Amino acid sequence: MTDPDYHLDTLAIHAGQEPDPTTGAIMTPIYQTSTYVQSAPAEHKGYDYSRSGNPTRTALEELIAALEKGRYGLAFASGLAAIDTVIRLLNPGDHVIVGNDVYGGTYRLYERVFARFGVKFSWVDLTNLDNVRGAFTPQTKLLWLETPTNPLLALADIAALAKSAPQEVLVAVDNTFASPALQQPLTMGADIVMHSSTKYLGGHSDVVGGLLALNDEKLYNDLKFLQNAVGAVPAPMDCFLVLRGIKTLGIRMERHSQNALQIARFLEDHPAVKKVMYPGLESHPQHELAKRQMSDFGGMVSIILENEEAAKRMVMQTKLFALAESLGGVESLIEHPYSMTHASTAASPISVDPALVRLSVGIEHVDDLIADLQRALG
Ligand SMILES: *Cc1c(COP(=O)(O)O)cnc(C)c1O
Repeated sequence: MTDPDYHLDTLAIHAGQEPDPTTGAIMTPIYQTSTYVQSAPAEHKGYDYSRSGNPTRTALEELIAALEKGRYGLAFASGLAAIDTVIRLLNPGDHVIVGNDVYGGTYRLYERVFARFGVKFSWVDLTNLDNVRGAFTPQTKLLWLETPTNPLLALADIAALAKSAPQEVLVAVDNTFASPALQQPLTMGADIVMHSSTKYLGGHSDVVGGLLALNDEKLYNDLKFLQNAVGAVPAPMDCFLVLRGIKTLGIRMERHSQNALQIARFLEDHPAVKKVMYPGLESHPQHELAKRQMSDFGGMVSIILENEEAAKRMVMQTKLFALAESLGGVESLIEHPYSMTHASTAASPISVDPALVRLSVGIEHVDDLIADLQRALG
């Protein structure tokens, strides 16, 4: 079932997921168990305790590895738990280069938690390769990038950045916004791919989770050790929900992308909107890179309105677009990053424009979505 030559839509439904050998159940069972009976001391069927391993989690880990064209996958209780586990590869004094437009929680984890343990972070504009090359020091151990970025939808050139990094520097890509259906960073030279499976992979706003995918065996063993030693593992039920969500990833991303492009074009023509950020628009400064690096442009659209008041008014006046944090579900969401998802970056080098509004375009009928936005913009 896990023939790596299958297309993504096929792998999404079958990789890691054999019918249950004893019952024939086609869906992976939710192995809701904490422990496993052993036939003799330390003799077991591959599982001894569910923090260390669980068959429902194994299916999800094999699935994300297949989707990202990697050899190994690891599942966590949240996206941040996955990021946290990667950072624990480092030691005090080590240095990390991070894009200056990242998820607010990543910024908070780095600067407010790991900086206290002596890890040093440089926040760099990753669209400028010379800046990045100049930021490496002998202590640099990790280059962390997000593309497209949250919330400004800027792109980082994964292949060029991976090439610019010295051999010993790990290159990790937060692939949450694109999902493996649109972009596969391991094939472009990245060492680690990270996902908040809370978003497009889960796809139905009903679960919080995180995933890593990678190729190197030693790196996998180090991360697997940390996964067990730190213990931020997902519950079997949550693994099941992500497995089920991923089955429709391909067609969902297609519809998210179609809807978002139409909405971005509508917003670009609207007089109340000063700027639209969407990688699929010809006006996007990195549209050519987007075409090269991504197979489609995804469901996230950000816009700048006249001012903060206009932004807050808009997010309170949509009906179909629900005012909520998070993204990537089948239903459309709208939010004000300055006071919501990115409040933790206020007055920091990566703070966001108060007039910014972020849309997570769902898979409802696009005409209904456009009518909703039209009404809200007045
Ligand atoms: C949501 C998100 C995260 C954090 O994931 P959680 O599942 O909320 O812990 C990290 N990166 C990006 C780009 C996200 O959107």
